[in-house]
Amino acid sequence: GELVLYYQPQIDLASGAVIGVEALVRWPQAGSTPIPPDEFIYIAEHTGLIRPLTRLVLDLAVAQAKRWRDQGRDLRMSLNLSPHNLIEPGIVDTIAATLAAASVPPDRVMLELTESTVMANPKRTLGVLHELRELGVGIAIDDFGTGHSSLAYLTTLPATELKIDKSFVLAIGADPTADSIVRSVIDLGRNLDLGVIAEGVETVEQQAFLSRLGCDTLQGYLYSKPMPFEEALAYLKAEQACLPSQ
Ligand code: C2E
Ligand code: CA
Ligand code: CA
Repeated sequence: GELVLYYQPQIDLASGAVIGVEALVRWPQAGSTPIPPDEFIYIAEHTGLIRPLTRLVLDLAVAQAKRWRDQGRDLRMSLNLSPHNLIEPGIVDTIAATLAAASVPPDRVMLELTESTVMANPKRTLGVLHELRELGVGIAIDDFGTGHSSLAYLTTLPATELKIDKSFVLAIGADPTADSIVRSVIDLGRNLDLGVIAEGVETVEQQAFLSRLGCDTLQGYLYSKPMPFEEALAYLKAEQACLPSQ
């Protein structure tokens, strides 16, 4: 019960508006900075705690999505899932029931899965991904480009979005290979009719490059670091005040 979620905004390149947030888990420590997820997700995955952890993340994120909806903000909520979550019996029903109880439409939720998550158990995972798509939630392939799966396999997944890994985004302008990879992923997304989001956008130069290539959505420190929910609330309020009124 000590874990909390931080929220990082996702910006629509065309309008500049925040269209969603990614929920990122943290373990706060009294008098110190919170423990980052990279230090405990792995342990949770290997001690049978990832199921209750994901359950908690799902409950907190959906409750937050509901609160924003009640305030008139129609934000998309992105969540990270581990490989273990996808082979968990009843996972689709759990997600469906949690969303229904909070009256959050499934199409306002994006599940982020890394290539390696999918590859951990390709056959079983594919079936679950199809069930999730039937439910109506979005599926993003996270850290896209860093796994070892074949492009042919990846394109058979019922994904709705590709998320370009920050290692490539951070190297834009500094490493020509990274530039080519980013360009190729955006082209691939367009040709397969998938949304493309870039994470790790830190500079206006990276933003300009991604904008020129027609990337749909951006996320990174240039806009905001992940924030505790009170700060995210204030950020969203300030952002809304800047948008032209409808
Ligand atoms: P991820 O899903 O690839 O998340 C992106 C990470 O990049 C986050 O680290 C975020 O804080 C960081 N980031 C965002 N913008 C920038 C930027 O502009 N520059 C740089 N250098 N970094 C940026 P974080 O929050 O420490 O999370 C690390 C990883 O832990 C996540 O990587 C994800 O794989 C995992 N994780 C986080 N929350 C959850 C969760 O609820 N469940 C599961 N299963 N995994 C989670
Ligand atoms: Ca993610
Ligand atoms: Ca990543």
